[in-house]
Amino acid sequence: MRKSLHIKLVLIMVLLIVSLMVVVGAFLMNSVTGYYIDEFYSQIIDAFGQDSVDFVRDLQTATDEEEDGAAMVQEVLSLYAGTLGVDRRNRNYYVLDGATGRWLGGSAPEPEGGVAVTPNISAALLGEVGIKSSVTADYMDAAIPITRGGQPYIVYILDNRETARSLNAEMFTLIIEALALGLVISVLLSFLLAKTMVNPLQRLTDGIEKAAGGDFSRKLEVTSADEIGQLTESFNTMAGQLETNIAELERAEQQRKDFVANVSHELRTPLTNIKSYAETLSDGVGGLPPETEQRFLGVILNESDRMAHILQDLLTLSRFDSGRGGLRPSWFPFAGAVDDTYQAILMDAQNHAHTVELSLPDGLPQVRADRERIMQVMMNIVSNAIKYTPDGGCIRISAGQTGDRVWMEVDDNGIGIPEGDRDRIFERFYRVDKARSRQSGGTGLGLSIAQEIMAQHEGRLYLVDKDEPGLTIRMELPIRGPREEAGNEG
Ligand code: ADP
Repeated sequence: MRKSLHIKLVLIMVLLIVSLMVVVGAFLMNSVTGYYIDEFYSQIIDAFGQDSVDFVRDLQTATDEEEDGAAMVQEVLSLYAGTLGVDRRNRNYYVLDGATGRWLGGSAPEPEGGVAVTPNISAALLGEVGIKSSVTADYMDAAIPITRGGQPYIVYILDNRETARSLNAEMFTLIIEALALGLVISVLLSFLLAKTMVNPLQRLTDGIEKAAGGDFSRKLEVTSADEIGQLTESFNTMAGQLETNIAELERAEQQRKDFVANVSHELRTPLTNIKSYAETLSDGVGGLPPETEQRFLGVILNESDRMAHILQDLLTLSRFDSGRGGLRPSWFPFAGAVDDTYQAILMDAQNHAHTVELSLPDGLPQVRADRERIMQVMMNIVSNAIKYTPDGGCIRISAGQTGDRVWMEVDDNGIGIPEGDRDRIFERFYRVDKARSRQSGGTGLGLSIAQEIMAQHEGRLYLVDKDEPGLTIRMELPIRGPREEAGNEG
């Protein structure tokens, strides 16, 4: 990659320099030629124009005893050679016969084969001023017809353009030199450019290769704010996200394994109990006292109930996980649901000699939620309070409204939850005291189901900090219900 990018850069620079020089060169050389031609004709027009009365008069006015008019014209021209820019080398003047165009004299000897008849001379022979320029010709000329002593002459100025040509040649050499220098500089620059571009790209490539191999640990250094810098930054963000996603996946995978292990364990315990009691019963058919048989059968029934209970909870969770646990929201009075829960557990609480206080303010609103599910959550947290509070405890149920949410809080003075376990009690199968939970028919799934239900309602279920012994747990629910329902209304 490094090589090809480098070669591309060199090529681009070379092409750029060459095309630039060609354009500039052509433009410059063309301008020089054009400038010379313009200069020449404006000089001639100035010399013969209305402002040069003296020159034209001197050319045209013959003296009385004049014999050779052509010689006199030549003399005047030689006097004004400077004005005409005649240097006798590249630019000369000639005096031609106005009728035939024959050479009569000039600043240079007659050219071999006579003066060539140019379009300008032809025009002058017809009595017109010949000052037309031709860009393609390798000369510039002007032919001005004059009359002196009744005799027609043509003042002919011829420039061989040598000055322009030599200047162009010099310029050409200069351009070639500049081109060579430009090429050297561009190659050097391309090295530098390639270094600044290729090095970060190479680092990026290394990083990507590492990431492809699963190593996301190294963050690439962003050394510039340009596109490459942005690319590096994007790569870092992507690598970070990938790393988080992979960690998340691994965590989920671990959770799944734990879950399967937990399920197997939870089901194995009652199954083992059922099996051993059933075996004992079958071994001692007829030999066991009827009350022992009755007790064993009771255990077997109890354990089967427990298994059914666990399976029921698992089924509920699995429905939630697969998105099939859709809600059926409807409007109902929140206070009514709290009161129903209170009534439902009252008997159980009294059996444990608990005092249950209900504080329900007036004017609690109707809420839009899945009443059955919400009741399930309420029942779960109140029964937990009864279960995990030693007999004769005090359980307080309160409810209220805060903004556009309603809440219910259950506070007990029971065994509470050790600090280290507080975060975990909403995990599936998590129980602080497995034996106590099992004894009271708990599966360790109740709170995770409850939290799932609250999340579906865009509400919350959480522990509230308290200093006294016991536990305070609070559920919160938006009055208007979840914004998007997972299931159908009904
Ligand atoms: P379980 O079926 O075991 O009651 P939950 O999911 O309802 O399962 O509760 C999880 C665990 O949280 C319980 O096993 C218990 O250890 C603890 N817990 C729940 N509520 C209370 C409470 N009011 N006081 C003390 N511990 C509680």
